[in-house]
Amino acid sequence: MQQRVLTGDRVTGKLHLGHYLGSLQNRVLLQERHECFVMLADVQALTTHFDRPGLIRDHLRQVALDYLSVGIDPGKSTMFVQSLVPEIAELTVIFSMFVTVNALRHNPTIKAEAAAHGYTDLYYGFLGYPVSQAADIAFCKATLVPVGEDQIPHIEQTRKIVRRFNDLYAPVLVEPQALVGDRLEGLDGTGKMSKSLGNAIALDCTTEELEVKVKRAKTDPSRIRKDDPGHPDVCPVYGYHRSFNPDEAGEIRESCEKGTIGCTACKASIVRALDGLLKPLRERRSRYEGKDAFLDEMLIDGTERARAIAKTTMGEVREAMKIDYFARK
Ligand code: ATP
Ligand code: MG
Repeated sequence: MQQRVLTGDRVTGKLHLGHYLGSLQNRVLLQERHECFVMLADVQALTTHFDRPGLIRDHLRQVALDYLSVGIDPGKSTMFVQSLVPEIAELTVIFSMFVTVNALRHNPTIKAEAAAHGYTDLYYGFLGYPVSQAADIAFCKATLVPVGEDQIPHIEQTRKIVRRFNDLYAPVLVEPQALVGDRLEGLDGTGKMSKSLGNAIALDCTTEELEVKVKRAKTDPSRIRKDDPGHPDVCPVYGYHRSFNPDEAGEIRESCEKGTIGCTACKASIVRALDGLLKPLRERRSRYEGKDAFLDEMLIDGTERARAIAKTTMGEVREAMKIDYFARK
C-alpha cells in the first residue's frame, strides 16, 4: 500500500548523525515507493529560539542542503517550509481547543526538553508544540511518520487528537503510524545527540572536524588505563560503532571488554567508518552548495504543493465543524 509520509526537522542548526540514524535514512528509502513530505520546521524552531530568528533564517538553506546531501530527491519528495503553510497554524488553533494542559505537561519529551533548556516556567508555544506537530501531520493526512524515539509521545498525542477530531465532527482526518529509528547518543555522553546541545557530529563536517570531535568524545568513565576492561554499553563511541560500523562492532566490543583495545584505537576506527559514510554526503552537498536560487526554487515549489493540500484539508475541516459559513458548494 502506498503511504503518505510526513516528517521534518527543526531549523535550529545543521543536521547531524542522530538525524541520519533516527529519520533521514528511512526517508531516503521511503521516497522510492511512497509519497513523501519533508518539512523544514521553522515555527517549531521558534518555540525555543523565538529570540534568535536570525539563526533560523540562516539555517533554512543549510537544512535544505543537508536533505539533498543524504539523497532526499526533490523529484521524489516534497520539501516545504512550515511557516509558509498558514493552514497548519489554523489547524493548530482548532486542535488546541480539545487538548488539555495536563496532557501536554505530562508528555515525557516535553519534560525532558524543558529540563535540557533549563525552563522553570513553560512558554505557551513550547508547551503546545505537540499540538502544532499534530497539525503538521494531519494537514496532509500522513499515514506514516519516520521519527526518532524522542518523538513517540508526540505521535501518540497526534493519534489521540485525530481520533478526537473525527469523533467530535466527522471522520476526515487520518491516524498516522510512527516509523521509529534508533536513537544516537551525544558526544558528551549525557543524553541524545542534539543540535542545540553542542554534542553533535554535523553531516557536513570535514574529516579534520570529525577527528577532533571524536577525540574529545566521552567514553566509559571507568576506563582509566588502556588495559582496564571497558563497558561498551555505557560508551557513546561504542554506540557509534554499533550504528555505523556494524562489521567491526562485535570485535570492538569483545576487545574493549577484555581491555585489549584502547580508546584511541577504537576512536580511530570509528573515525574511518564515519568518514566513509560522510564522504558521499559531502560530494552530493558540494554539487548544490552556493546554488541559492535553485534551493529557494525547490522550497517554493514544494511549499506550493504542500499548501494546495493544506487548503483542501482545511476546507474539509471547516465543513466537518460546520464553520464553513460562506463556502460555495
Ligand atoms: P533540537 O535540539 O533543536 O531539538 P534535534 O537534534 O533534537 O534538535 P529535531 O529537529 O528536534 O532535532 O529532530 C528531528 C528528527 O530527528 C526527529 O524525528 C528526531 O526524533 C530525530 N532525532 C533528533 N536527534 C536524534 C538522535 N540523537 N537520535 C535519533 N534520532 C534523532
Ligand atoms: Mg529536538
